[in-house]
Amino acid sequence: MLEYGVLPKLKEDWWQELTSQKRFMIFAGPCAVESREQLEKTAQVLKKYGINGLRGGAYKPRTRPESFQGLGEEGLKILAEIKQKYGLIVVTEVLDEESLEKALPVADILQVGSRNMQNFSLLKKLGRVNKPVLLKRGLAATIEEWLGAMAYIEEGGNHRIILCERGIRTFEKMTRNTLDISAVPLLKRLCPYPVVVDPSHAAGRVDLIPALAKAAVAAGADGLLIEVHPEPQKALSDGQQSLDLPSFIKLLEELNPWLLAA
Ligand code: PEP
Ligand code: MN
Repeated sequence: MLEYGVLPKLKEDWWQELTSQKRFMIFAGPCAVESREQLEKTAQVLKKYGINGLRGGAYKPRTRPESFQGLGEEGLKILAEIKQKYGLIVVTEVLDEESLEKALPVADILQVGSRNMQNFSLLKKLGRVNKPVLLKRGLAATIEEWLGAMAYIEEGGNHRIILCERGIRTFEKMTRNTLDISAVPLLKRLCPYPVVVDPSHAAGRVDLIPALAKAAVAAGADGLLIEVHPEPQKALSDGQQSLDLPSFIKLLEELNPWLLAA
């Protein structure tokens, strides 16, 4: 086991600033940015319910090449417009040097997806950028490997890192992945960074998301990353795990007492 020391409190206050002192942050939005209308409908609900974090991929790392790969620069343009109009904090995925350069002016937080957790040249570049990085756990990465990836970002001098547990591959097939809830309290002992949970990619199905989101809060997570789509049945990626807007609102209402008790 690596020695990282026990740091019970967040060393940095950037997270407090980012969350407007609430220390808990929900990032919600579609898997992929598909249109202005799609993102705007989502942003209107976020704003109405006091959610400041907007997620949405312009560059999508899909399993197969014929699948929708994201709108690229057009998607970033839409993100920038909606961010500006609604005053939201945008997290979006970068895949490589090119998408990083393009996303930098728009993103408030740069997401490294599971498939790129060990893309060391990308991690080194992110170590030198002046933006927080949301580092997702690799598809089948151990916590030690994840911490190794985190260290690549730190090494470049970037200490604004958010770790995102999104489930790992196990023998279980009834969920897309298995949410490793113990990663949350464990990481909070091992490093000084916020830990957020993505129940959408963990479950891979909408019906389990509320329970996993509550489990994350109870385990001490600092935030949630949730896929939300105005019309999940028409989504170009991950529709089966995207909450529609009324279900998202219901989840926020259900989460309220949990957040107050946490
Ligand atoms: C995503 O957030 O849409 C995504 C691709 O997630 P992951 O990297 O966890 O599969
Ligand atoms: Mn997705």
